[in-house]
Amino acid sequence: MDGSGQVKREKGFSTRAIHEGYHPADEGGALTPPVHFTSTFTFPDVESAGAAFSGEQPAHIYSRISNPTVDLLERRMASLEGAEAAVAFASGMGAITAVFWSLVEPGDEILVDKTLYGCTYAFFNHGLAKFGVRVSHVDMTDEVALETALKSRPKIVYFETPANPNMRIIDIRRTATLAGAAGARVIVDNTYASPCLTQPIALGADMVVHSATKYLGGHGDLIGGLACGTQEIMDQVRFYGLKDMTGAALAPFNAMLILRGLKTLGLRMREHSASAGIVARFLEARPEVANVAWPGLESFPQYELAARQMQLPGGMIAFELKAGKDAAITFMNRLNMIQRAVSLGDAESLIQHPASMTHSTYTPEEQAEHAITPGLIRLSVGLEDVEDILADIAQALST
Ligand SMILES: *Cc1c(COP(=O)(O)O)cnc(C)c1O
Repeated sequence: MDGSGQVKREKGFSTRAIHEGYHPADEGGALTPPVHFTSTFTFPDVESAGAAFSGEQPAHIYSRISNPTVDLLERRMASLEGAEAAVAFASGMGAITAVFWSLVEPGDEILVDKTLYGCTYAFFNHGLAKFGVRVSHVDMTDEVALETALKSRPKIVYFETPANPNMRIIDIRRTATLAGAAGARVIVDNTYASPCLTQPIALGADMVVHSATKYLGGHGDLIGGLACGTQEIMDQVRFYGLKDMTGAALAPFNAMLILRGLKTLGLRMREHSASAGIVARFLEARPEVANVAWPGLESFPQYELAARQMQLPGGMIAFELKAGKDAAITFMNRLNMIQRAVSLGDAESLIQHPASMTHSTYTPEEQAEHAITPGLIRLSVGLEDVEDILADIAQALST
């Protein structure tokens, strides 16, 4: 209760996505935050510059480390993810690599899920491994296998949920409990769900990483990334991983575009989910379709877990045609409105073939081992009128 007798509660998700961290009165009444296009920051005297560099007096120094527009985005994302702090990056890969360069050393083991975004997989297996970090893969939907893998006491447990591209869902609460008991830090790539649908930190994860290129930006016009976690770890990630190891700083203009995208994140995720549900049911009923993975379908193997862990099932669908890979490619080539492109979470519906596009960083043997089947199609359902999405799919399916 506050003085007015009202019960205090945290503001809702969309309210925070629109207002958090910004006060128009601080900027001459400007409704929307100014964009601070500056590389560096000036000091009235050398003593105050020295105090900023030593950390004694927090201040912006140079925009590779921090910038007021980027800082606002970081505060807003920290609020949406329920984290103490966040750091923004020039890309999702910038976020993921800076986090790992900050936290691992040669000889450490990291335990990662069987299914990962292609470039993350390449970073772990072809990048980190070269520097003496041991990378172990386990199917994190299999609790027994996970418990066995944790016996070697990895430093970090890392997974995506839903996983790109095949929609496997990992139980965040259970995985965080088991990993925590084994002394590992848990990092979740929350790109597919966005904080609107899943908040991993509230379920026990230590950190969250994002490709802001996808749903957060939401309009296909930028590349960006974010990491969220405790203040202490985010300071390490900023002052080491970002400042010295990757330099992958987000430009202030792109921070403004992501801030703009966040304002409609709640609205967009509801529409993406609703349309994806209609598209998934349509696909499931078609005789040409072998299987459809969308977490809101009753036929989805992890339907109950998804319903518990996700506020809505989201806008991503994976499916296969009965006639296999060649038929999948023919179908995709026939589409008129739905665009053949990687990336996801945009207003435009996007379709891609993971085996030859996003996940071609896996060898064919690795694809087979990691459940990326040759005929798998990944569809990011956009914000067009759903009747038009269905019509395009229907004309491309019919011979
Ligand atoms: C796109 C993506 C990334 C990489 O992000 P970029 O912004 O492209 O660097 C990481 N994880 C997932 C799940 C993605 O979809």
